[in-house]
Amino acid sequence: MLDYLYIDIVDACNLRCQSCPRGLGIMKNTNNIISSDLFEKIIDKTYSLGMFKRIGLYNWTEPYLHPEIDVFLQYCKKYNFETWVSSNLSLKNIPALKNSLKYIDYLYVSTSGFSQEVHSINHKGGNIENVKNNLVGISEEKRLNNLPVNIHVRYLNFGYNSSESELMRDFIKNLGLNYQFDGTMGDPTEQRSLDDFVTYEMDITEREREREREREREREREQIPCGAISDHLPMDHEGNVFLCCHTRNCEETKIGNFLDMSFNNIQKRRMEHYLCRRCSFYYRKNNNIAISSFISKMQSKNTLTQKIRNMFFIITKNQEEFIRQSNLFDPIFYIKHNYDAAIDNTDPLHHYMTIGAKRGSNPNEWFDSNRYLARNPDVQDYCMNPFYHYLRYGIKENRDL
Ligand code: SF4
Ligand code: SF4
Repeated sequence: MLDYLYIDIVDACNLRCQSCPRGLGIMKNTNNIISSDLFEKIIDKTYSLGMFKRIGLYNWTEPYLHPEIDVFLQYCKKYNFETWVSSNLSLKNIPALKNSLKYIDYLYVSTSGFSQEVHSINHKGGNIENVKNNLVGISEEKRLNNLPVNIHVRYLNFGYNSSESELMRDFIKNLGLNYQFDGTMGDPTEQRSLDDFVTYEMDITEREREREREREREREREQIPCGAISDHLPMDHEGNVFLCCHTRNCEETKIGNFLDMSFNNIQKRRMEHYLCRRCSFYYRKNNNIAISSFISKMQSKNTLTQKIRNMFFIITKNQEEFIRQSNLFDPIFYIKHNYDAAIDNTDPLHHYMTIGAKRGSNPNEWFDSNRYLARNPDVQDYCMNPFYHYLRYGIKENRDL
């Protein structure tokens, strides 16, 4: 059973985010959109497969560019699929917006500033006043009609824009919507090489080749497909399916057409894809088991405190090593939420210590850095990595997580 089928119902986005291959123009915008007939055939086949629980109408595009998005969402509800939409909500007039809310279970909206000046640094071409007006409109619609749609506004924190996050948070809270402060990847103020996006063919050193071989052996040993393959399947507006949501759509990642291929063949071709050998973004589906085991350890604080005490004598100077020795940093979780660490192929923990922590990224599923700092404001004064502080002092002091 997979979780998500992601369908791009258009082939364009109205923005030019500098952290996105679509925004950078590497995936070119066209006027092509999915037809009702094709969409219905895809959803009918998806239902008959019995393999998916959720349909997301997005991947590399802005779904509200399609004038019939509400009709498509309604069609998904015919089979009781859970429906997900992610949008920049920057368009001025979205005729289908209010009606679509009736058929959406989860709507995600991303922003990166409260003022136009800051928002448009990453959301290039975006208009924050349109976003706010649309948010006001949908919160009213939700309230007036008592709609169950869950609306989450994600504030993408790149560091340079963190000072406006509270203004956005208060605005969102006043509307009765959910606010999410997310550390993210691809700081648009940093110069990036387009090579990462342009081609997946690259010169690789013998050391990297050995790392590829080691990854391959590990996957064969464990017989677990990457979670990106076992959890979701991305599709474009023509019904072509692609390797995964972490690689852009292109000839190299195209698997074939959803309607022409058997599901088993699609999955087989994905699992055999050569790009997976060199990908450090790989994550295991049973990662949750590891996370729950950490959480249960957390519930037994005495054991953990003892463990930390023991560690204290081993490493006292180097914060990075201290965290490494705790085994509580989750590299798979971290890479999943910080794609640039995978692109740069750096050690995830080192990336977290030098880049991620500064922009509010979390080291694992259960430790929320920003919440820890908010609940323990004195930690901010020490200018210390919040996770290191928690492991080193917070546990002993019974600090709130
Ligand atoms: S809004 Fe989304 S799809 Fe559009 S350019 Fe930005 S990140 Fe890419
Ligand atoms: S290993 Fe990497 S490229 Fe392959 S499916 Fe997983 S995330 Fe995608």
